[in-house]
Amino acid sequence: MSSDLHMHTRCSDGLLNPEEIVDAAKAAGLNYIAITDHDTVNGICQLYEAGLYPAKGIKIIPGIEFSAHHETQEIHILGYNIDIYDKNLTDKLNDVVEARWSRFSSIVKKLQEMEYDISETDVLEIAEDSTSISRSHIAQAMVKKGYFSSVRACFEEILEKGRPAYVSHFRLEPGEIIDLIKQSGGIPVLAHPKLIRDDVLVEQLLKQGIEGVEAFYPKHDSEDTARYLEMANRYNLMVTGGSDFHGIPGRSPLSLGDFVIDDSYAAELYRDPNM
Ligand code: AMP
Ligand code: MN
Ligand code: MN
Ligand code: MN
Repeated sequence: MSSDLHMHTRCSDGLLNPEEIVDAAKAAGLNYIAITDHDTVNGICQLYEAGLYPAKGIKIIPGIEFSAHHETQEIHILGYNIDIYDKNLTDKLNDVVEARWSRFSSIVKKLQEMEYDISETDVLEIAEDSTSISRSHIAQAMVKKGYFSSVRACFEEILEKGRPAYVSHFRLEPGEIIDLIKQSGGIPVLAHPKLIRDDVLVEQLLKQGIEGVEAFYPKHDSEDTARYLEMANRYNLMVTGGSDFHGIPGRSPLSLGDFVIDDSYAAELYRDPNM
């Protein structure tokens, strides 16, 4: 049996709702999963409140993915086993999510100034009830409107950092995120370190109170994985991995189960909710 510790639902920028994710995980034969939406734990709350956690023989680890503030690089920090009802955590998440909404309006305004015929409603038709609105929703709306052939092309041309429609938003500092995760009972893990594109910065972050490294990731080749496993070993950190499944057509991995890790890594993180 295998596991996957990184995936997104409709509550952030994924396509499936939380229950559908659990069903897809079951169909893929996964043993442990972690739902790690951007800046929200709503997906996990929904499962919990629907009595679906633990559910259908799948062991679910509550998770989250934060984007940290940095001048030039994209730093993402995963939190596992956070208390989804922790007041300090939910207050901070409300601030971050609020900032995402004003930034969403600013990006749409920029696009309109760039003469694209796109409205907030066009994006909201894609985002529906997502709590955590993202550039990913905007890119999907631009593709639907026929302006770009793919979400990736839209990012590369206009939405990535440094491109004309990019707008930054309020992000907590890496140290604040690490503390917040720990204060709410969780384990902070550095997400997809290769995507930071700077291993010196990666090592600095690993020395800042991070407790795990996402060494297994679809965009890591075998050398990358070996290098991050070595770092985890050197800094005495846990090892995690996951697919970063979003369910968006054309975006790899296309299905849950396409990228998995050995159960033993997930078992180390898992806490039985009945204990
Ligand atoms: P945001 O959190 O609003 O800044 O949006 C970032 C999200 O957009 C990420 O979580 C990815 O899902 C997606 N994303 C970022 N870069 C790209 C890219 N180059 N191509 C496709 N999707 C991307
Ligand atoms: Mn995403
Ligand atoms: Mn990420
Ligand atoms: Mn992710």
